[in-house]
Amino acid sequence: MASPHILLFPFMSKGHTIPLLHLARLLLRCGAAVTLFTTPANRPFISAALSDTTVSIIDIPFPQNIDGIPPHVESTDKLPDMSQWPRLAIAAKLMKPYFEQALNSFPRISFMITDGFLGWTLESAQKFGIPRLVYYGMNHFSMSLSAVASQSRQLLTDLEVDNNKLFSFPSFPWIKFSKKDFDPAFVDPESQDKLHNEYILEQLQATEKSYGIIVNGFYELESVYADYWNREIGPKTWCVGPLCLAAPPRKKQENYRTPSWIQWLDMKQEEGKPVLYVAFGSQADISREQIKQIKTGLEKSGVNFLWVVGKNQVEDDDGFEYRVKDSGMLVKEWVDQREILEHSSVQGFLSHCGWNSVMESICAKVPILAWPMMAEQPLNAKMVVEEIGIGLRVETSDGSMNGFVKWEKLEKVVKELMEGEIGKELRKKVKQVGGAAGEAMAEGGSSWNALKELIHELHAERE
Ligand code: UDP
Repeated sequence: MASPHILLFPFMSKGHTIPLLHLARLLLRCGAAVTLFTTPANRPFISAALSDTTVSIIDIPFPQNIDGIPPHVESTDKLPDMSQWPRLAIAAKLMKPYFEQALNSFPRISFMITDGFLGWTLESAQKFGIPRLVYYGMNHFSMSLSAVASQSRQLLTDLEVDNNKLFSFPSFPWIKFSKKDFDPAFVDPESQDKLHNEYILEQLQATEKSYGIIVNGFYELESVYADYWNREIGPKTWCVGPLCLAAPPRKKQENYRTPSWIQWLDMKQEEGKPVLYVAFGSQADISREQIKQIKTGLEKSGVNFLWVVGKNQVEDDDGFEYRVKDSGMLVKEWVDQREILEHSSVQGFLSHCGWNSVMESICAKVPILAWPMMAEQPLNAKMVVEEIGIGLRVETSDGSMNGFVKWEKLEKVVKELMEGEIGKELRKKVKQVGGAAGEAMAEGGSSWNALKELIHELHAERE
């Protein structure tokens, strides 16, 4: 029997691409041939990440001159303003003829895994008789709760007057929600423009008609919600993560040179000082006023911190970097986040709760200060704090999801995590959960088995 041939097509954002690069490695380990689709501007990042593998990479032209998108921008982290992301996603549909041209050139494809935001790939898959699986990067908890909440829009509209009022959904009576747990874009179509709503609806319909969903998580972490999804909603899911555990250790790669921030963490380790890692993913837009509060909160807390500021400019107009030079480091470049989280001096993570960041933190056994900013991140934060019990929530002043966080609140919660008894308990808990994640991914574990079963079902049985 020929080896399986699997196609991957991630969406043009780092958070959606990185886990599929890890998945590509896992599929190779299962004996599959893997072809990954991308666009020209995204190719260098992907080629560098997979340079030691046999994954074939195909780039197909990305449309240019899109209204509202600067020229040559082909990924969300390069957008000057994240509110423009649906335009980028909608434009991606124009890649369809090139995608189908490429599909035509392959003799046999076992199945394809394409991003949930590339719903148009379902039509191509159907045309060529290829099963399509969807990757959204969401866990079962967030998928199930988003689905349930969007069916109860009236309830959420009624609550508009009071951010702090608590409510439950009949399917999950044990969870108390308030407005802060939902990004308005997820539950209130009125808050979004027509373009966005039509686009999202199209993606959801394509997902419903697809073969299944790949989830970057492990069954034991959220079995109640995985079972609920598969029993009540669907299509069927396969939990095959945490995918970050498939990544190769950086130090083993050729030409490795220790980055300055890792040298700084080494120094902190020698000094015996625990470090809080601060990062909000690849695409969050944070206002200048909020950045000022973060600076003050970190400085007043007195903890050691490594802050990867990413695309958000942290202006040094107030001597901040000089004042904190003994306790803090700011990094403006792209980092290997896993390498930082796995450094033994890192004992806490102030995170926006993008699901990759959560998975990486769990695998590195680091507890989280959960500060969600958009999309399903507030649900991830709820899961981190209330369901898994490995973090504390950073509260906004008005109790809303995307409200302002004052430095006093941040200082308090940072100290609780890094110096308090609560932090110790959370560290114990995350060690257990991280251990379970490793077991799921090891040979014979639930995630390993799920991937094997998927390949068997879609390759061996179709041969
Ligand atoms: N990341 C990284 N280096 C950076 C910034 C981000 O490696 O300098 C990675 C991070 O480890 C994670 C991904 O980018 O794998 C971000 O995904 P996440 O879901 O956490 O957040 P998003 O960027 O999608 O909001």
